[in-house]
Amino acid sequence: MGIKRVRISNDINNKPLNNEKALIALAKHHGLYEGKQIRVKKLAEQLGLRVIEKEMDSEVSGSLSKDNTGIWEISVNSKHHKNRKKYTIAHELGHYIKHKDCSDHFSDTTFFRNQSSGSMEYAANEFAANLLMPEEEFKQVLREYGDDIETIADIFGVSVLAVKFRVSSLRKR
Ligand SMILES: [Zn+2]
Repeated sequence: MGIKRVRISNDINNKPLNNEKALIALAKHHGLYEGKQIRVKKLAEQLGLRVIEKEMDSEVSGSLSKDNTGIWEISVNSKHHKNRKKYTIAHELGHYIKHKDCSDHFSDTTFFRNQSSGSMEYAANEFAANLLMPEEEFKQVLREYGDDIETIADIFGVSVLAVKFRVSSLRKR
C-alpha cells in the first residue's frame, strides 16, 4: 500500500532499491554501520518494514509476511543469538526485495540446508550474504585472515556457517 511505496522510492540517487548494492549505499547514506557490520534491522525499518522479535520453536528462524494493511513484517526468533537474528532479518529482506510479488508469506526454519542454486531460498541466502558481507570487503578480509573463519565471522557479525556459505557462493561466480 501507499506508505511502503513512498518510502521505498525515497532513495538516494533515484535508483531502484532492488539489489544488495543499492541497499548498502542506502545504509551508508544513513550511517547504519558499526565497523563492517550493517545494522540490518534499522535498514529494514528504513525501507518501511516492521521488525519484531517473538518466541518461536528453536528450529524456526523467522518469517516475512504482509499484514492486512499492506505493511510487511519480519518476525525473528527472540531466543536466537544476535548474529543469527541479523542473518534472519537479512534473509527475509532478501525475500522482500526479490520475491514479494510471488507470495504474502515466507517462513524459514534452518538456513543453508538442501538447496539448489536456482531456488528462492538460495537466492535469499545469497542476498543476505552479499548484504552482510559485501564482496570487496569480504575478499579483503579473506586475504588478511585466510582460514581464520571465526575471526572473519566476528568482523562481519555473522555465524561461521554464513561465512562458509559466502566463500562457496563467491567460488560459484
Ligand atoms: Zn527463506
